[in-house]
Amino acid sequence: QWGALQDRLSSTIGENNYKTWIKPLEFHGIEDGEVAVFHVPTNFIGTYVSQNYGDLLLSHVASLNDQVRRLQFRVANAPRPDAGTPRAAAPTPAAQPQATNGAATDLLPSAPLDARFTFESFVVGKPNELAHAAAKRVAEGGQVTFNPLFLYGGVGLGKTHLMHAISWELRTRHPELNVLYLSAEQFMYRFVQALRERRMMDFKELFRSVDVLMVDDVQFIAGKDSTQEEFFHTFNALVDQNKQIVISADRAPDEIKDLENRIRSRLQSGLVVDLHPTDYELRLGILQSKVDSYRSQYPALEVDAGILEFLAHRISTNVRVLEGALTRLFAFASLVGQPITMELTQDCLADVLRASDRKISIEEIQRKVAEHYNIRLSDLIGPKRVRNFARPRQVAMYLCKQLTARSLPEIGRRFGGRDHTTVMHGVKRIEELRSQDSQIADDVELLRRALEA
Ligand code: ADP
Ligand code: MG
Repeated sequence: QWGALQDRLSSTIGENNYKTWIKPLEFHGIEDGEVAVFHVPTNFIGTYVSQNYGDLLLSHVASLNDQVRRLQFRVANAPRPDAGTPRAAAPTPAAQPQATNGAATDLLPSAPLDARFTFESFVVGKPNELAHAAAKRVAEGGQVTFNPLFLYGGVGLGKTHLMHAISWELRTRHPELNVLYLSAEQFMYRFVQALRERRMMDFKELFRSVDVLMVDDVQFIAGKDSTQEEFFHTFNALVDQNKQIVISADRAPDEIKDLENRIRSRLQSGLVVDLHPTDYELRLGILQSKVDSYRSQYPALEVDAGILEFLAHRISTNVRVLEGALTRLFAFASLVGQPITMELTQDCLADVLRASDRKISIEEIQRKVAEHYNIRLSDLIGPKRVRNFARPRQVAMYLCKQLTARSLPEIGRRFGGRDHTTVMHGVKRIEELRSQDSQIADDVELLRRALEA
């Protein structure tokens, strides 16, 4: 059965990824009736697989055996980890709600916080500066100036990150404060549990004794009437005591359907800020800060600016995908022991890049570049090697490499049948010149913007 499943996985995630990550897994058996245990050669592989393919793998395994609830990756011969650890991997935000399994009978106060989600690691740019400033203000823990703070924005734009950051900062600055962070789903779960165990008094007491309450993804309670009701009472009790509340949602309060009007207007009564979709600069900043944080983990790996720029251009969906791509790139490069080149990047991230293909064509780039430098298209592509044509040609090649998914030989072909080494040389040359020659740097930037507009 595991064999058949392996085949299926290989076609979903691609031959290379399959060979690197899934093939080394060895199915060990089912434990406790619901944990599928895999042996892995190293902890690193276990962690990586769990973070990147955990959900996929689980859904496949569960389709074979519907008793299976979770996966565990264990280095062969290593002792069985504590029953309290649901996955061998470091906790990912998605895995965390399950981390509370062990204490199911307590009305657990706060959901675990991700150690990586701090203000230090949050990169501020135009799209999120307001949200960041508001979160910072709340994290000072001083007088309550707006209540609630309502943060909203699309998936992966940093809402959860900011809320955890507030928690962390409050814990250091004001250890005396009782700060409670949880998702709306966990709120409901605890509410239902309290009902079932006839512990509503405990529940109310617990929630009314916090100093700062943060509820993530509040859109979840839409349409869930009794949970909404309880949420409303909790909310009011805290506001009355002048306790700070922070709420997040994937959309603005008036766009959440099936939400009681009185709750909606409560949510709007404080400060409502949105996180805008990332722009190129912010994405690049996030990538750079990620790379810095990898220095210690992968001291031998260098990644040059061109590759980060390429990723920031090409992956514009959400930050989680962007980070995932970089993580995979580093893990892959270190595993195969190769430097991070453009080839390796495109190879290793083919699926991600395909999914977010912006479809800028080589012709388009050539046309724009020729126009920009005021030369004829035929001269840009043609054989003449005079500087007036050669430099724009290199700029065009560079942009083709950055903005399209075409390979070097393919680009060479489209530039009058040039060799891929010529293209590579051109790309390198512009990369160098960009840091030395501000005119070239400006040209490239201007053209890129024009092409992406
Ligand atoms: P949301 O809750 O809005 O769906 P998250 O807060 O979970 O998004 O963010 C998704 C991922 O992107 C997290 O790993 C987070 O650290 C990262 N991230 C998002 N925005 C930023 C940012 N401005 N700086 C650094 N990391 C960010
Ligand atoms: Mg979130």
